[in-house]
Amino acid sequence: MRASVIGSGVGGLASAIRLAVKGYKVTLFEKQGRVGGKLGELRIGDFRFDTGPSLFTLPTLVDELFNLAGDVGLERFSYRKLQNITRYFYPDGVTLNAWADVDRFASEMHDVLNEPELNVRRYLRDCEKLYGLTSKTFMFSPFPSKKAFFSDEGKAIGKNVMQLKAFESMHSVNSKSFVTRHAVQLFDRFATYNGSNPYKAPGTLTVIPHLEHNVGAFFPEKGMYSIATSMETLAKKLGVEVVLNSRVQAIEPRRGRIAGIKVNGVSAAADIVVNDTDIFTAYPELLSPKRLSSFYKMQKPSSSALIFYWGVKGNFPKLDLHNILFSSDYKGEFNTLMRKDISIDPTVYIFISAKAVPTDAPMGHENWFVMVNAPEDCGQNWDELVKRTRIAIVEKIKRTLGIDVEPLIVCENVLTPPLIEQRTGSYRGALYGISSNNPFAAFSRHPNRSRSIQNLYFVGGSVHPGGGIPLCLASAKIVDEYISEAGL
Ligand SMILES: Cc1cc2nc3c(=O)[nH]c(=O)nc-3n(C[C@H](O)[C@H](O)[C@H](O)COP(=O)(O)OP(=O)(O)OC[C@H]3O[C@@H](n4cnc5c(N)ncnc54)[C@H](O)[C@@H]3O)c2cc1C
Repeated sequence: MRASVIGSGVGGLASAIRLAVKGYKVTLFEKQGRVGGKLGELRIGDFRFDTGPSLFTLPTLVDELFNLAGDVGLERFSYRKLQNITRYFYPDGVTLNAWADVDRFASEMHDVLNEPELNVRRYLRDCEKLYGLTSKTFMFSPFPSKKAFFSDEGKAIGKNVMQLKAFESMHSVNSKSFVTRHAVQLFDRFATYNGSNPYKAPGTLTVIPHLEHNVGAFFPEKGMYSIATSMETLAKKLGVEVVLNSRVQAIEPRRGRIAGIKVNGVSAAADIVVNDTDIFTAYPELLSPKRLSSFYKMQKPSSSALIFYWGVKGNFPKLDLHNILFSSDYKGEFNTLMRKDISIDPTVYIFISAKAVPTDAPMGHENWFVMVNAPEDCGQNWDELVKRTRIAIVEKIKRTLGIDVEPLIVCENVLTPPLIEQRTGSYRGALYGISSNNPFAAFSRHPNRSRSIQNLYFVGGSVHPGGGIPLCLASAKIVDEYISEAGL
């Protein structure tokens, strides 16, 4: 049996591995000259940057792929748990470390913010309960489906609907849980982990802090891009043929079932096709726009990002691996994003992989990945926005950290929403598929199996269960189960 996988994002790589383990002869087609999709890497001189994801949760989903493959004589993918997850800098001068240890984190919240420790512990316990109630159904099962609704977990959700907190915003849940606005802002930020707005996204998204604060945040020993390369090595070891620089031009069905794909002008037969490309570009480009129902066409993309990759002269002990410089008006910042603009005082995220992997920057230097939330591409003047936002970021770093970074920047590269779309095919440059700014988002994602074309499956951030590395890996797991159930 032959399987073709289109796109080598984490969802595509995981699907290729799972299909190879099942005994398929798998070919993975990738339009770029490297694997990984949004999980990318950039080298400028002696600097190495992870260009996309930087926060890594649920690494066991990657381990699971190695476990499935068994002993194939490969070094295991290695990572470590972070002791300090994120260092937060507030505009009023408050600095807070989000320690991985819950007791230490709770006491830091108390000592620095005067937030009662009990609030932190209770909140994280509630997040864990919510994850326990929802994760099997919303993350690891085909959805929406009869199977999910009538499973024991589905029935438990039905009996405890109010516990989902689906009809109040994440901000409202957080405001009721904490007495200090600093704590509320810290936990509101987790809405951005799937490109949403905490003032609109449902309280159900408070499951996200559970992953980071109760289970843990991790970092690969060789940097984020090694997630993709280790999966690529495993796939190849299992016999997957990885064909780079090959844009698939069409998915070819015949009489309601998959016949194959067209690549480089030639049809290649396949019994199964797994598509890892964004469905909002896959339907018009590879299938037919008419096949995507108006329901899915109505869905709004998640937010995007504007990122500066700076090689910076100096070492800055004030900064950790993950750093957040909060804005003074968080609500205003999201309102600006809704107007498809970037705030003049944006929250700035600085990720410095060299803090964990010293070889990522030359001696006496650091590699700064400096990101702000940005709206999806709607034809804005990005040159102008990049210029304006760069000035705002440099000023904010000076104001908040007392670092005049401008003269220390020795090299630079910029990533904008249009570039994200151009490189990865992500519709309008959205980072996480569709946004979760309404209570029905979980019901609005495209399913992992085609309803009209037999043996066509969908993985990755634009389909169920959504964007982010763990969810994309979960989508590949769901497709694996579908294929097993079909007896293929
Ligand atoms: C800047 C940024 C920061 C992020 N931060 C985080 C984070 O901290 N933590 C986290 O978990 N997630 C994060 N994410 C989200 C995460 O990166 C994505 O959800 C995930 O990597 C998407 O994987 P995917 O399987 O959907 O494939 P994608 O990464 O979208 O890859 C799709 C692949 O398909 C290829 N392709 C497209 N069309 C074709 C075609 N016709 N033929 C062949 N190949 C094609 C593309 O070139 C691409 O390689 C971030 C994303 C970005 C961009």
